[in-house]
Amino acid sequence: MQALKDSFGRSFPYIRLSITDVCNFKCGYCLPNGYQVDKSDNRKFLHLEEIKRLAKVFSRLGVSKIRLTGGEPTVRKDFFDVIKILKNEADIKKVVITTNGYHLDKKAKKLVESGINGVNISIDSLDRNIFRNITGHDRLPEILKGIKNLQELNFDNIKINAVLLNNINASEKDFNNWAEFIKKNKVDFRHIELMRTGDNLDYFNKYHVSSKIFKDYLNKNKWIYQTFGKDAGPSLNYINPKYKGKFGIIAPYSKGFCRTCNRLRITSRGDLRLCLFGNTGISIRHLLQKDDQIDELQDLILGQMKFKKESHYLELGETGLTKNLSTTGG
Ligand code: SAM
Ligand code: SF4
Repeated sequence: MQALKDSFGRSFPYIRLSITDVCNFKCGYCLPNGYQVDKSDNRKFLHLEEIKRLAKVFSRLGVSKIRLTGGEPTVRKDFFDVIKILKNEADIKKVVITTNGYHLDKKAKKLVESGINGVNISIDSLDRNIFRNITGHDRLPEILKGIKNLQELNFDNIKINAVLLNNINASEKDFNNWAEFIKKNKVDFRHIELMRTGDNLDYFNKYHVSSKIFKDYLNKNKWIYQTFGKDAGPSLNYINPKYKGKFGIIAPYSKGFCRTCNRLRITSRGDLRLCLFGNTGISIRHLLQKDDQIDELQDLILGQMKFKKESHYLELGETGLTKNLSTTGG
């Protein structure tokens, strides 16, 4: 088996696959005016057969984990068929999703039955009003109920992501609220540092704050730093024996963040992106049309690996092709 490796010795067992750009939320840092159809790009989102071929080639290249993201991945009508195909036909060991948790209370059972291996839910605040102001939707109760339902079904790979926003959800009181939550719930809670994208410069300038404030909080409260697994995500994790859950920090601006990069991205329209923020991206969709194109597709992907850069250069204000993270899945 030929595995995916780049020129810096990094390997890539993990793919983030966006299956739609459509989203039903209006997060201030992502789609403040809601999803708008991109009139400059009339290509449809990848269909099931294309997704199957894509996953098969990556499985051949040693990929063991695929994260479904978007936009909001669960708005796709065939969302559960996508999971089924990845697990049963492409033999992907771990299929996980990132979701805004819309209707999670109703979907929890079906999610567990689908055999999904992990659910990451974005919840920027445990305060109902703050949550509504950030996302444009008063849906915090249904999301928390969804988490409860997952737990009652003994599903325990639940992670919560919150973008850290200065003067909105970054006070000691906010951190203490999450600590109370993970004291009782076996859930990993991670703060993501707000990233600057092509569209969100004003928002970024107003609300960006270094994740150091959260790190300082964790150190002050005696949380213990824990190291990574092979196909792990980018989070720095902290444990405390008195708590059921863990805390984590995803800090893309931090020095060395890219050193442990182990993932590639596929956009909803079939572009391979070597980095969330890289300028490099090519369409591989023309080789997803027939089963017998798999060798050619494999060569194309392997050939791209030499173009993966060492770092995203975000600290230099680089935002690459990324207008907002709904097109590449965050
Ligand atoms: N709609 C789903 C959701 O919100 O979980 C999946 C897609 S969303 C783009 C994936 C993740 O990216 C979410 O956790 C979201 O909070 C995060 N995100 C979006 N824009 C961001 C930004 N500018 N900086 C940091 N994180 C961002
Ligand atoms: Fe939608 Fe996720 Fe973007 Fe929020 S962060 S607008 S839920 S894609």
